Amino acid sequence: MSKLVLYGTVENAKKLLPEFKSKGYVPECFCDMDKNKQNIQFLGYPVLSIDEVKKKFLDFKVYVTLKEPEVYEEISKLINEGVFREEQILNDIKEKYISCDYLEYGLEALSDGVYHCCGDQNTEDYAKLPIMPYDDTLFEDVDAFILRFIEQKRQIINGINNGKHTSCTGCPYLREDYWHKTKKIRRLNYSLDHACNLKCSYCYKKKNGYKHTSSLDVNKIITKFKTSKFISVEHPVIYSSGEISVQSDADEIISNLQEYEVAYISNGTRYNANLHNMIKKTSSSILISLDSGTRETYKRIKGVDLFDKVCENIKKYSSDGGNVILKYIIMEDNLNKADLDGFIDICKKSNVKNIRISRNWYEAEVTDKIKTAAIQLVYKAKRNNIFYYNDGTITCNNL
Ligand code: SF4
Ligand code: SF4
Repeated sequence: MSKLVLYGTVENAKKLLPEFKSKGYVPECFCDMDKNKQNIQFLGYPVLSIDEVKKKFLDFKVYVTLKEPEVYEEISKLINEGVFREEQILNDIKEKYISCDYLEYGLEALSDGVYHCCGDQNTEDYAKLPIMPYDDTLFEDVDAFILRFIEQKRQIINGINNGKHTSCTGCPYLREDYWHKTKKIRRLNYSLDHACNLKCSYCYKKKNGYKHTSSLDVNKIITKFKTSKFISVEHPVIYSSGEISVQSDADEIISNLQEYEVAYISNGTRYNANLHNMIKKTSSSILISLDSGTRETYKRIKGVDLFDKVCENIKKYSSDGGNVILKYIIMEDNLNKADLDGFIDICKKSNVKNIRISRNWYEAEVTDKIKTAAIQLVYKAKRNNIFYYNDGTITCNNL
């Protein structure tokens, strides 16, 4: 049981008391710099000055009740001026500098190693992104492996903030903000090479003849990362390693990821009941890239005649509370009216309420025809109360 002092605005502290009590803290008093608020009782606790708090208690924890972002400035002032020690503060401590969410929190597990992100939307040369290749440390001492990766992040962040040229220079995702002082991986993405049964025209595997080249055991990597104290996932884990439903270890992977919310990227060609159960969780989902609304176009883009099967599976996954997102990568050969209308019809028939409109990132240009088709799809979605997320095809000015 630790003694708790709530510092700052007493009104803000009201709703926090039950939470701290349930965690085993014993609130002792409020602490306020404002003399007019001292020496009164609030919710049955005295409001004391800092000097009084220090005189009265030898060992205590502090929670600063100010709002964001002032709270971070105040905490750093309190620590720098020696009012409280850093280890006494229960708040998340954040510092202000230039960085991005992926650089701070991201780990993208690809086949050749771990990356911080998948690049900014303009990244043409993927090889320019910093990578930390896999080595034996991953399986012998996963914390040492992750710590080394976090150190790589720290060096890039320091470089950015010291005006040096880094792999992130010019990236639109960079911004000045408050970032956690304690560095941890909070976003995980598994995008390793694993078996798939399609031959999509836009797939990165096209250049090697759709071969499955990696011998890495995805499930083993998931298991290892789960044991690291430097990984504390706060966002849905993204699983986009080949096509999960055709992989022999699919059920093991799904069960291994059970404790997380997961966004599965799938082609939907096979139904998996365990996966369906997983996507019933509030923030979990399956994202199926249909990229068409007719059988002929599907076959041309995907290399197989499985349009009807996929539509049937979309319906199944969307039933019984399953969260399905349908994706449409707009390209020159799927932007006709029949396909766009057909796609919206499938959403309606399958009760799909979310779509993602995207571009082919391997094609440099987003042509006027692609932009027009994207706008048409947006309007069709709006008319049918379907939420859309636009991924690089159009800007607000186009709408
Ligand atoms: S700044 Fe851009 S390139 Fe750098 S990690 Fe973030 S998203 Fe990736
Ligand atoms: S489903 Fe995904 S991994 Fe499989 S071929 Fe298509 S794009 Fe590539």
